[in-house]
Amino acid sequence: LNGYVGFANLPNQVHRKSVKKGFHFVVMAVGESGLGKSTLVNTMFNSRLIPEKEEVPPSTETPQTVAIQNISADIQENGVKLRLTVVDTPGFGDFVNNEESWKPILMDIESRFDSYLAQETRANRTKFVDNRVHACIYFIAPTGHSLRAIDIEFMKKLHTKVNLIPVIAKADTMTEDEIDAFKARILADIAHHNIQIFRPTSDSFDDPETVAENREILSKMPFAVVGSEKEVQTPDGRMVRGRKYPWGVIEVDNEEHNDFVKLRQMLIRTHMEELKEYTNLTLYENYRTAKLLSLGK
Ligand code: GDP
Ligand code: MG
Repeated sequence: LNGYVGFANLPNQVHRKSVKKGFHFVVMAVGESGLGKSTLVNTMFNSRLIPEKEEVPPSTETPQTVAIQNISADIQENGVKLRLTVVDTPGFGDFVNNEESWKPILMDIESRFDSYLAQETRANRTKFVDNRVHACIYFIAPTGHSLRAIDIEFMKKLHTKVNLIPVIAKADTMTEDEIDAFKARILADIAHHNIQIFRPTSDSFDDPETVAENREILSKMPFAVVGSEKEVQTPDGRMVRGRKYPWGVIEVDNEEHNDFVKLRQMLIRTHMEELKEYTNLTLYENYRTAKLLSLGK
């Protein structure tokens, strides 16, 4: 596929390290049913992820509302292994009372911190696994209005626990102008509510290429994405992953059509290490400190 970024393009050092150890990267997909979570995940990794055996819920207190489902896959691209776990959250926002839809998701994230903490304090560290959630893609319905109460509530409850990456779902259902206006509204709402989303940061040590790349990513946020597992024929005869309309084809892998490529690049190529580092050094560290303090009381 054209413009499909392979792991071979990773910086050499990261590449070599990953060949040896393999990545383990945990991405969570949250949003109402039907917003295209499963489709996007399958599109992103170009493969159907296999559901693992049902995991025990993180806590017996988990309300029977939002289900937490882990799907994992070992993905191999140009000899680099990526162990990917996607945490899907069917049921989010699907109930009559959605006030606490965020709760089981928060509990899942925290229980992953807890098991990491338990491993850290254990003597035998040979089988150390990092199952912490490194990024949370939050799907916003393509309404064109502002964020809804459930969106704001979720992000407010979760933004100190996970790297939030809001995306506009099913962007092919909106016009370009509508998307631009919707993006501006969403960013204004996010700022108004003091919600912290993941943003690539540059510092004075970064090379100009990185700075430009980060600026480009920032300019597209929140990403407006289109997913499709099907190949369709364009009017000029190419076969592409996309969605077909009477007036033409929206191409998944075309940056002129939507921000899917940017999202994928950011997650898997340019910012995976940064997402993992921020999870470890800031989000987890804050959780751990608060937890140990409360235990000491
Ligand atoms: P989930 O419930 O969030 O996992 O959503 P699914 O991935 O199961 O998708 C629900 C429906 O939306 C399916 O019929 C998909 O084909 C369709 N769908 C998924 N992604 C897109 C998209 O980007 N645009 C449009 N128009 N439809 C989509
Ligand atoms: Mg699904």
